[in-house]
Amino acid sequence: MKAMVLKKIGSLAENSHPLELVNLPTPVPGAGEILINVSTCGVCHTEIDEIEGRTPPSQLPIILGHQIVGRVARNGARADRFQIGDRVGVAWINSACGHCHHCQSGAENLCDQFRATGRDARGGYAEFTTVSEDFAHKIPARFTDSQAAPLLCAGAIGYRSLRLSGMADGAVLGLTGFGASAHLVLKLARHNYPKSKVFVFARSQKERDFARELGAHWTGAAEATAPRKIDCIIDTTPAWKPIVEALKNLDRGGRLVINAIRKEEVDKNELLNIDYPVHLWMEKEIKSVANVARRDVREFLKLAAEIPIIPEIQEFALEDANRALLELKNRKIRGAKVLKIED
Ligand SMILES: [Zn+2]
Ligand SMILES: [Zn+2]
Repeated sequence: MKAMVLKKIGSLAENSHPLELVNLPTPVPGAGEILINVSTCGVCHTEIDEIEGRTPPSQLPIILGHQIVGRVARNGARADRFQIGDRVGVAWINSACGHCHHCQSGAENLCDQFRATGRDARGGYAEFTTVSEDFAHKIPARFTDSQAAPLLCAGAIGYRSLRLSGMADGAVLGLTGFGASAHLVLKLARHNYPKSKVFVFARSQKERDFARELGAHWTGAAEATAPRKIDCIIDTTPAWKPIVEALKNLDRGGRLVINAIRKEEVDKNELLNIDYPVHLWMEKEIKSVANVARRDVREFLKLAAEIPIIPEIQEFALEDANRALLELKNRKIRGAKVLKIED
């Protein structure tokens, strides 16, 4: 099978082609696993964090990619949840232990033995992949393969962020950064909280225009002051400055949710600008989002099909994965980038 593999860690600025097209044997599904003929795989900012070593793969070489849509090609021993040909998706959560207190309480995303697709296990930048059948998800018929891919990470984690933000109908929601996840959160928030206003902070005019098209009530630059204080803010940027700016715009008792697996180091000293009475006092909260649980993926897929939430996508060939990643790094974003894998 064709696959784009990462062989070593390094910065994209120094090596703009970190992934190499190779031919590998098609994997064989183990007991309880399914073999998936991959059709599409979303491109996520987390892949850049893996490539640059902020959340390094536990083994190299590795096939990246954790927003996988494809069809079941073969069942391993004892795997019987799916029929051959069923359309399934695989998200960031590849496995968890199932018996620790986190797993038992439904927080399998916090499991000590959490393994991530495309980081600790083979991902979807390839023609085939395998996964435990318990960690595969049925894809609603409402979506094409390309539309479904970004729902599996950007959508599922956006859904989790919105849940953790404590939003209620009528509260003001702020989004800092407007990439794949934020644009889905905006669609979700407009539906779930019809009385709420949504404010979007984004660096480029293009992103701000896009947010307005999708129903944002106000948009501004990253360092803008919002027309009123905001109750819940979700940050999806890789930087620190937006955190400081968001805390400034956050209302008393408000909550800032950081939806990022890692932050880049470049502008870390911006944090020194935090002025306790302005940015933190009055019971402002900061909470991070870590991974996703299967529940997030399944609930969000169902909701997205009902509303419906159809992501804006931009397709690339598997061989062009490096270009897609570079565009993402350089924030050439309009909706979500998806690799379309030809048979
Ligand atoms: Zn992701
Ligand atoms: Zn566990």
